[in-house]
Amino acid sequence: MSVTSVGIKDQVVIQKDHFQGLLDALIKTGYDVIGPALQNKAVVYDHLTSIKELPIGWTDEHGPGKYRLVRRQDEAYFGYVLGPISWKKYLFPSQVTLWEARKNGPEYQLNKIDNNISKTAFLGVRPCEIHAIAKQDKILMQGEYLDPIYKARREKIFIVAVNCAEPGENCFCTSMQTGPRAETGFDIALTEVIDQDHHYFVAEIGSEAGAEIIGHIKFEMADPGAKTAAEQVSRKASENMGKKLDTRGIKELLYANSEHPRWDDVASRCLTCANCTMVCPTCFCVNIDDTTNLTGTSAERRRRWDSCFTLDHSYIHGGSIRVSAKSRYRQWLTHKLASWIDQFGDSGCVGCGRCITWCPAGIDITDEVRAIREGGRTAPASAAVKE
Ligand code: SF4
Ligand code: SF4
Repeated sequence: MSVTSVGIKDQVVIQKDHFQGLLDALIKTGYDVIGPALQNKAVVYDHLTSIKELPIGWTDEHGPGKYRLVRRQDEAYFGYVLGPISWKKYLFPSQVTLWEARKNGPEYQLNKIDNNISKTAFLGVRPCEIHAIAKQDKILMQGEYLDPIYKARREKIFIVAVNCAEPGENCFCTSMQTGPRAETGFDIALTEVIDQDHHYFVAEIGSEAGAEIIGHIKFEMADPGAKTAAEQVSRKASENMGKKLDTRGIKELLYANSEHPRWDDVASRCLTCANCTMVCPTCFCVNIDDTTNLTGTSAERRRRWDSCFTLDHSYIHGGSIRVSAKSRYRQWLTHKLASWIDQFGDSGCVGCGRCITWCPAGIDITDEVRAIREGGRTAPASAAVKE
């Protein structure tokens, strides 16, 4: 344990050889730690107890419809970009049981859902993902319709962010102002610094809980050299961003171009597979299934992720209203980048690039917007809605 005490905004250095101390401190304080691990040739999030389970020395190459792991030249702990799994897997699970009823004699007994979640630390949250969590917080915890399942989980989360060093080909967080450096929304934010002779982490304290955890591990206060090295990591990441999305007047642009020929073009490529919505860290659409067993002795109501790419999603009395791929892709993109602003005050996209990487057809949201902007109508002045 270090004797120097730290506070919010302080920056400290944790040497690589002491990094296990961070996991140990989290576990000792009662957190279940979830972080990056290698599984099925991808970086996914899983339960961790040792830094040996991190994807040390691996990185991931991204492209439209392309993802592969490759060895790095160094032993970086967080040298990858992003895998297919986002933190919504834990905060907003793909399937939950809302209630269940079991026949007990002549009566049915209603069982409440078990929402007793243990304290959990997310290790390795990218800055764009912090913004994605903040967007889901706004919708599911701070809006008119509270989601008690999300809230119970969210209130027990400790966030260890990791600032990006090498963005992937599909990243555009700088366009969405969500990265590559975490500014708020974390308990501890790490920047991994590797040079010829050193390998260490500069840790910024973001909360009292973060200061308490740092107090349990071996660290030194960051000197100006370490702070500058961490800033350079973020600056380089910002300069090497894979993609750009021009967001100027994007809401008005999309509203004014609902009949642009590009929607037909993208519909001819889109498989309506819904992958883009499953991997997106901000998508939150769900459906409800009621089921009973064949003997009628038990019944359940389940909530599961849904997607605006399914036909059923737009089913209203008499049929679905978005029957074509064109109408479904247009709905998704327009909601993400335009009507989300009207609903929730900002964009529904954080620029993580997952929908590009995991689209089997290699459809790229930034290309689609560019094509609409290049050949599209500009919004009439009367159509401009004040943000
Ligand atoms: S855009 Fe790509 S990922 Fe999304 S539904 Fe179409 S084919 Fe699937
Ligand atoms: S729309 Fe695509 S780039 Fe934007 S947050 Fe969702 S998955 Fe990431």
